[in-house]
Amino acid sequence: MRWSWKIATVAGIPVRMHATFLLLLVWVFWSSLEEGSSLEKAALGVAFILAIFVCVVLHELGHALTGRRFGVHTRDITLLPIGGVARLDRIPKEPGQEIAIAVAGPAVNVVIAGVLLLVMHFSSRVYDLSDPRLYDRSFLAGLFKINAWLVAFNLIPAFPMDGGRVLRALLATRLDYVRATRVAANVGQGIAFLFAIVGVIGIPGWAPPNPLLLFIALFVFIGAGQESAFVQMRSVFDGVPVSRAMIRDFRALRPEDPLSRAVELLLNGHQQDFPVLGRSDRDPPLGILARSDLLKALAGGGAERTVGEFTRTCGTAEPHEPLEAVFQKMQESACPALPVVEPGRGIVGMVTLENVGEFAMVQAALGGERRGA
Ligand code: ZN
Repeated sequence: MRWSWKIATVAGIPVRMHATFLLLLVWVFWSSLEEGSSLEKAALGVAFILAIFVCVVLHELGHALTGRRFGVHTRDITLLPIGGVARLDRIPKEPGQEIAIAVAGPAVNVVIAGVLLLVMHFSSRVYDLSDPRLYDRSFLAGLFKINAWLVAFNLIPAFPMDGGRVLRALLATRLDYVRATRVAANVGQGIAFLFAIVGVIGIPGWAPPNPLLLFIALFVFIGAGQESAFVQMRSVFDGVPVSRAMIRDFRALRPEDPLSRAVELLLNGHQQDFPVLGRSDRDPPLGILARSDLLKALAGGGAERTVGEFTRTCGTAEPHEPLEAVFQKMQESACPALPVVEPGRGIVGMVTLENVGEFAMVQAALGGERRGA
């Protein structure tokens, strides 16, 4: 994620902090000083926010480490002002595994809340948990309340909350995965809609309007829609080998070619990114000359320089590889295209983000026709 820095590595997983989170800390500190609090009290406010986010990191680690048991790698955990995000490489389609990973996060907060209860119970200070003012005055009681909230909030059956994943997994035991996701997303969006109504008009005689709820509703609504679209997109790729979506008709460059040759090919055809071949056609290609790199080189006044200087190494794909895996490889390496190589024969085709997108559109249209019939 842009604008985030690595602040720690826990169990081999990088923990990153988003810049906006730092702003939140500064804002809490500043606004409490502004209200006339002492320096000590303002610092305590910041410490409280940091304690909440330790709980959030532990929650995300719950997901990540449970995922690891099923062989799912977590790229990183990022702290945002609205909470944490653990980027798991994939979500297992096995309903039992998805449920275990989803439930592990809130389970961590249940444990933290339990430990806080014990500490308060055995403390010399008397904590009267039935007194609502306690939660504003005591650090421990406040943290307990937050953890109870995190459990309740995350178990709402709406994407992208953990409860939404549990619901999808339960549905997936009966329905196919794409349908299960669509139903779960619809339920999530319905709940988001209710949140929005309550956020605007409140519950008469019980709860006043709450703009925060409106914000959460928006977050849930968008998250649910994205999850559904993503799963649908992935299902289009399911079981499709690279060879079915690759371009066979392409032009290639040599590292010693001048950039002007690349410009000529770019202007004369519809190809935007070019594979750069090695000494022999049977060797794997050296990499890709991406259009963006070519334009940057030209803007820097390098029309006479060679293709080799601006070639990106992107890795390669093989014709039988699943398209989904290759698509992911391209997104991770930020390469707009990959050469498709057959061992011993050299390059046989290219996959580009564009033509994969076109393939997905065509498949979706064909699928829509099948459903309509
Ligand atoms: Zn979670």
